[in-house]
Amino acid sequence: MPETLPAYFIGHGNPMNALQDNAWTEGWAKIGRQTPRPRAILAISAHWFVTGTGVTISTAPRTIHDFGGFPRDLYHVQYPAPGDPDLARRVAAMLAPLPVVLDESWGLDHGTWSILTHTYPKADVPVVQLSIDATRPASFHLEVGQRLAPLRGERILILGSGNLVHNLRAYAWGEATAGPYDWAARFEEEARKVIVAGEFDPLVHYDRLGRDAMLSIPTPEHFLPLLYVLGTRQAGEAASFPIEGVDGGSISMLSVQVGGPA
Ligand code: ZN
Repeated sequence: MPETLPAYFIGHGNPMNALQDNAWTEGWAKIGRQTPRPRAILAISAHWFVTGTGVTISTAPRTIHDFGGFPRDLYHVQYPAPGDPDLARRVAAMLAPLPVVLDESWGLDHGTWSILTHTYPKADVPVVQLSIDATRPASFHLEVGQRLAPLRGERILILGSGNLVHNLRAYAWGEATAGPYDWAARFEEEARKVIVAGEFDPLVHYDRLGRDAMLSIPTPEHFLPLLYVLGTRQAGEAASFPIEGVDGGSISMLSVQVGGPA
């Protein structure tokens, strides 16, 4: 029987994690060592948040340095993983009749490569990115994940990259070890319960969860990749949290694993 890969939502946090070795990046590397080797990766990054659904079709996706004001070394990072046009076309076919653009302009943004430089440092696993349609409600993103779930049985690693709690306005700059704000801790705890229970409705309707959720998700792009990953959950599969922690009080570095050994 073909092995079904787990799916991961990973909290990527600060782009500088690409160059650093810390508890979070060690966790990302461990995922690469422990997960059966994927045939390819389908990445859903907070940083490709646009109108419409697209997949990268290039055979050699470029490394995009989509940030400003960081040290020069970060702009020199290249992540030369190949693309996988066949996988991109397969994703488009699975989502039909939803229009999916076969995109040659985007590549791999830092939501993807800041993680993968640790998880697959040789850049030898093909990567396709799937965009997040900013015009759609949260339920749409969960449904897209549900439609794409069969890929896990084809040795495709589905990787959502964002942050469950992402509030840069409240971020304690220079205080990476600051404890979480009370609202961040409460929202993360609430989300964990929902994820473990496997009933994701409260997260789809996070706008009804009150002030803690509004402060944790002031804008949706870092949260929505989680819904794609949760959408791939099959009946009876467990969810676990292989990486934990909060950066600067307001960025949750929590990672969520769906399926596979905990
Ligand atoms: Zn980000």
